[in-house]
Amino acid sequence: MNAAANQESGKGRRFVERVYRLRVAGCGLGIFCVASVFAQQGRGYVLWALLIFHCFVWPHVARRAALASAVPYRGELVNLLIDSAFGGFWVAAMRFNVLPSVLILTMLSMDNIAAGGLMLFTWGVVAHVVGLAAGLLLLGFAFEPMSRMPTILACLPFMVIYPIALGWSTYRISRKLAQQTRALERLSRTDGLTGILNRRTWEGVLADEFERSRASGYASSLLLVDLDHFKHLNDTRGHTAGDAALQAFAGILREHFRDGGHIGRYGGEEFGVVLPGATLAQARVVAERLVATVREYASMDDAVCPCTASVGVAQCDQAMRDHISWLQKADTSLYAAKVGGRDRVVVAHASPVADA
Ligand code: GH3
Ligand code: MG
Ligand code: MG
Repeated sequence: MNAAANQESGKGRRFVERVYRLRVAGCGLGIFCVASVFAQQGRGYVLWALLIFHCFVWPHVARRAALASAVPYRGELVNLLIDSAFGGFWVAAMRFNVLPSVLILTMLSMDNIAAGGLMLFTWGVVAHVVGLAAGLLLLGFAFEPMSRMPTILACLPFMVIYPIALGWSTYRISRKLAQQTRALERLSRTDGLTGILNRRTWEGVLADEFERSRASGYASSLLLVDLDHFKHLNDTRGHTAGDAALQAFAGILREHFRDGGHIGRYGGEEFGVVLPGATLAQARVVAERLVATVREYASMDDAVCPCTASVGVAQCDQAMRDHISWLQKADTSLYAAKVGGRDRVVVAHASPVADA
């Protein structure tokens, strides 16, 4: 089975289990409505046996059949249509006793629309008609619409409890969906290895900051940080050690910029930090401290990240066309730091905007 089919069957299983619980509740409550009418009309044992089968055996058969089908979701849709056909049949069997008939058809339609939208609802109506026709054919036509007090009372639990159960089930699904949406949003924003912002999101933050700085005139600086001779670490200790070093380095960055600064993974072993409100001079001080911290950490015997770092710093200025120009300026400084011997900070010459 391919991945898409696997996913579909996974989704179907949860769906089957959810409908199973609701079907057990619906049948357990619905039996009182039909039974009260059968008792009033003195129906024969075949109909009673069928009713008992539908209410106590069918939910379990339906669950098993759906789970055993290639795509449980589709199997369950078929079950819902069988439910709808049963509903039509019970209307004929109850001789159109109005309250339980309306109640059963309404609840079934509610299930169908909740599970499969307008399409399943429409097919459900067709199934009601088919079930009703079968009932009329097998049992003959009779019309006794008046619902007596025992039937009204027997319908009350179904009328009250079942919509609450369906509402609760729907609420749980929507809450789970909201949680999953939030988790997906978080995943789509962050880098899988280090947990900090990924390049796309970080560049978005940079672009926003560029616009803000240009519009308001306050200073804003950018750091591009690259680990020195990282390839050597990969080559000598292996890719896994390289990954661990990147994670450790991201931890150092997080700690260093915990009071402010948007950190992102710009490339393999290259990171970007946006410092809103920082002048070039302030950014240089912060960058120098970072390089010193990384150097100190790298010199430890058991350092997970034994690399020093080079940093290029640039401040947003009015001459820049867009945030890419800002990035290029920081990148030029980073290149100068590498050429200058690494393990250092180089600051771009700029015509800075007014200090914050
Ligand atoms: P320099 O001091 O000039 O920056 O040299 P360098 O070796 O750090 O730079 P280079 O760009 O030559 O090498 C970067 C290496 O980073 C190459 C690539 O295999 C490695 N790399 C990129 N992404 C990952 C990753 O996610 N995990 C690991 N382990 N390595 C990565
Ligand atoms: Mg490098
Ligand atoms: Mg690099």
